Amino acid sequence: PGGQDGEVGKAQRAAAAGEKAGGQPTIFSKIIDRTIPATILYEDDKCLVFRDVAPQAPVHFLVIPKRPIPRISHVGPQDTELLGHLMVVAARTAQAEGLADGYRLVINDGKHGAQSVYHLHLHVLGGRQMGWPPG
Ligand code: IMP
Repeated sequence: PGGQDGEVGKAQRAAAAGEKAGGQPTIFSKIIDRTIPATILYEDDKCLVFRDVAPQAPVHFLVIPKRPIPRISHVGPQDTELLGHLMVVAARTAQAEGLADGYRLVINDGKHGAQSVYHLHLHVLGGRQMGWPPG
């Protein structure tokens, strides 16, 4: 559990997400490999946390796996440990960012979820009062 996908697993995931197998890496892969800059808040061997470039709240950061899973609707049992890790890192980083009054975790999936980057990411938004329902 939590092991690395081989090339076949990655290609299957990309195809399932409607992306070209072996196609262009997303912008998040470029942040992981430092091809483009980001304000990085935390990193370990499995994940990276960085500030959203277009923040929707006073604090808005993203938690991403280093393994490029395209979207939450395509995860499987083999991803359970990794997904739990992302949530624990999100909560710890929120605490480090001073979000003692709470925050919101969001995962957008696909067209109806308004996902724009097909590399799984948790949004963490805080520092203001959130509304419900979301738009
Ligand atoms: P989605 O709409 O849930 O896929 O969220 C993608 C998020 O990535 C948006 O909130 C964007 O503002 C953010 N984003 C896109 N490009 C970059 C970048 O280069 N650095 C940091 N955040 C980015």
